[in-house]
Amino acid sequence: MAAESNGKSTKIPEIKFTKLFINGNFVDSVSGKTFETIDPRTEQVIARIAEGDKEDIDIAVKAARAAFDHGPWPRLPACERGRIMMKFADLIEENVEELAALDTIDAGKLFAFGKALEIPSAVSTLRYYAGAADKVHGNTLKMSREFQAYTLREPIGVAGIIIPWNFPSIMFFYKVSPALAAGCTMIVKPAEQTPLSALYFAHLAKLAGIPDGVLNVVTGFGPTAGAAISSHMDIDKVDFTGSTEVGRLVMQAAALSNLKSVSLELGGKSPLLIFDDADVDTAADLALFGGFYNKGEICVASSRIFVQEGIHDKIVEKLSEKAKNWVIGDPFDPSTRHGPQVDQNQFKKILGYIEHGKREGAHLLTGGKTHGEKGYYIEPTIFTNVEDHMMIAKDEIFGPVLSVMKFSTIEEAITRANATRYGLAAGIVTKDLNVANTVSRSIRAGVIWINCYTAFSPDCPYGGYKMSGFGRELGMEAMDKYLQVKAVVTPLVNSPWL
Ligand code: NAD
Repeated sequence: MAAESNGKSTKIPEIKFTKLFINGNFVDSVSGKTFETIDPRTEQVIARIAEGDKEDIDIAVKAARAAFDHGPWPRLPACERGRIMMKFADLIEENVEELAALDTIDAGKLFAFGKALEIPSAVSTLRYYAGAADKVHGNTLKMSREFQAYTLREPIGVAGIIIPWNFPSIMFFYKVSPALAAGCTMIVKPAEQTPLSALYFAHLAKLAGIPDGVLNVVTGFGPTAGAAISSHMDIDKVDFTGSTEVGRLVMQAAALSNLKSVSLELGGKSPLLIFDDADVDTAADLALFGGFYNKGEICVASSRIFVQEGIHDKIVEKLSEKAKNWVIGDPFDPSTRHGPQVDQNQFKKILGYIEHGKREGAHLLTGGKTHGEKGYYIEPTIFTNVEDHMMIAKDEIFGPVLSVMKFSTIEEAITRANATRYGLAAGIVTKDLNVANTVSRSIRAGVIWINCYTAFSPDCPYGGYKMSGFGRELGMEAMDKYLQVKAVVTPLVNSPWL
């Protein structure tokens, strides 16, 4: 169906999938309840989605358990799993426009980026792990006495995957791809704000030949469907991406149920350190891209910009000049760089932080206001003269709000950058290799970008230090989350006990 948007014709996709996907079929929830998913551009309801709860999670776990214990998926030759995953990736590629459009109407994401970058990145992640499936090997060990052993790396079992709304497609494949490659079966719970693309992926998985029960998608809310995953006695692993507060609940529930294995990818308050020798243009571009990409709804957002005193005023001037060109508007419009925040909660929360920043005495350099008559649009906002103790410098805002702070020495920059409970990412802008090396080894974070920011690739792991979580996404490291090691021991010659 075509619709008018900012005078340009854009494709609003038809909503084909609104039910839970369990054991290879789209089904209503046991309660028959549904919930609304809202378009943040218009504040209108897009569709009603089946609302899964504890009973639906139970049914999905039974299907995933049967598929793991008796089905073909974990028993297939690994290269055959890889072949089916490649087919899955091809199908996603064939539907790239429709999938990108679903994330645009559900999450306010830029359609052009979705089509050119985010859905293709989901596809390359799936292909990377399709190739990794048959490269999982154990070791052979000559044990100290009369024994020899070999290790097997076996799939961990039934995985519960809980994902957030900011990158509905990428987050889905960061977790589902290594889980599939390892031979696990799974229940995915997408965020309640963004269920549409996950249900579409479930449909494509079936077309690709992924057997029934292997990949189940249960839509619903966190405290009900999500909590039922973390406390379930027959789920072997929970892999969670979301806020630090909910991560703590997930870990608690796992501990109090069956001690399932837990991985957590949580929040951040990442620093970008700009040194005196930096190129002003490049540094300002990196700061804006790092802070405002996906309207600041990105876990690695460079929301604390530390600028060395010699270059500080030039950077502030450049940021102010460039932020004016950061076009805000309908995310289907190719000239737009900044769409609406995901929902009303997020919109109100961000505006609350902006008011707080003003009250705390930070200087509002740009933005700070809402945009347009309808939709959850907030201008890209930059505060200067921010002090480390201010709430805008400490809390993860998860919106388009940058705090700029001045520093003088490298030591001071490192100490202040590390003075946070988070440790997800950091950026450094300098031409001096000594500075880059010293700082990158001193910052306690899972990924450090030097003269770049938000550069991701399927083979490069990332994840949290400190309260940003543990476990890694991407790379062969992510396979480890879905595998466990079994040692098989035999006597070298006869049995020493005979
Ligand atoms: P959230 O923690 O509110 O929700 C994340 C998911 O958890 C959703 O699917 C939600 O339904 C579910 N959930 C909520 N309560 C639950 C409960 N009690 N038990 C089980 N599941 C529950 O986070 P959000 O607002 O959707 O996402 C924003 C947060 O995610 C930010 O803090 C951001 O930094 C973080 N994030 C981190 C990464 C990363 O890779 N580290 C990536 C993206 C987002």
